[in-house]
Amino acid sequence: MRTTSTTPPARTGVTLLGLGAMGSALAARLLGEGHPVTVWNRTPGRATALVERGAESADAVAEAVTARPLIVACLLRHPSVHETLDPVVDGLRGRTLVNLTTTTPVEARELAAWAAGYDIAYLDGAILAVPAMIGTPGAQIFYSGSQPVYERYRGVFDAWATSTYDGRDAGMASLIDLAMLSGMYQMFAGFFHGAAMVGSEGMTAARFAARTAPFLSAMTNGLAAHARVIDGGDYTAPGQQSLEFSDLSHLVRASEEQGVDPTPIAAVQTLISRQIGAGHGSEGLARVYESLRAEAAATSGHA
Ligand code: NDP
Repeated sequence: MRTTSTTPPARTGVTLLGLGAMGSALAARLLGEGHPVTVWNRTPGRATALVERGAESADAVAEAVTARPLIVACLLRHPSVHETLDPVVDGLRGRTLVNLTTTTPVEARELAAWAAGYDIAYLDGAILAVPAMIGTPGAQIFYSGSQPVYERYRGVFDAWATSTYDGRDAGMASLIDLAMLSGMYQMFAGFFHGAAMVGSEGMTAARFAARTAPFLSAMTNGLAAHARVIDGGDYTAPGQQSLEFSDLSHLVRASEEQGVDPTPIAAVQTLISRQIGAGHGSEGLARVYESLRAEAAATSGHA
């Protein structure tokens, strides 16, 4: 959402490719804001509700990609973007493509390079919201790639969500989105593991959720302190919880004693043990970051 501008958003013609749950929500929001919208979907019959609200429906993707100045793809995965657009790429030459399909950063960069080869202005986007949130301030969409495209179409983007531009590297939006989702899913896995532990003695997941949610929420205050240590690079600075103190062997053992698979917590313990084994036991817990970074550098070839 745009929060500071006083000018009304410009009405922009948009083609939306892909009418799944998310694509339909994006198209519906634009119609609600008065933007002219053309829609296309691989499987016919998904445009009916949007057409009733004023959308034009294109039968062929070739027709869709030339119908409006801004083309937005919200398909399933990276291959579906090529499957849809490769056959009509000549119609896309000189036009603007915003790809909101979830991809990895490498896939987003591949699409940006592909687009550049056909003189297509390309902006990648990553949606941090569920369809019902589209058009609410809690929805976030990250963008990276062409800055002129981002600036030109802010009126459209701000109709959908709180927009953030993450730079010209088309992979950055996806990278940040997936990194945030990594934290979310591991937190959920931690909750599922904890629920299974207490569930082994009959406590309901609902009761456990009520007990643990405020605690987890309070713990997020610690992220900034860990970040300061990581960015400063001094894991010996005073005031940190040491890796030795953070040894989670007892937690893994307790899980096993309850007959609960310890995989999520055992993974954390593996990272801690690796640092203790390397002689850093008296240093701060945030040093786990170094284990992960070393792994990334080894697989990507970066120092
Ligand atoms: P859906 O499964 O509801 O819809 C998938 C869409 O992709 C359909 O329009 C489908 O067309 C189309 N599609 C799939 N494969 C192809 C293909 N090979 N060629 C052409 N079209 C294809 O998914 P969503 O709408 O929920 O998600 C769309 C994108 O948004 C995904 O990348 C998803 O990760 C992302 N997203 C979704 C969120 C959500 O909560 N839903 C949250 C954040 C991101 P057809 O009808 O013909 O099968």
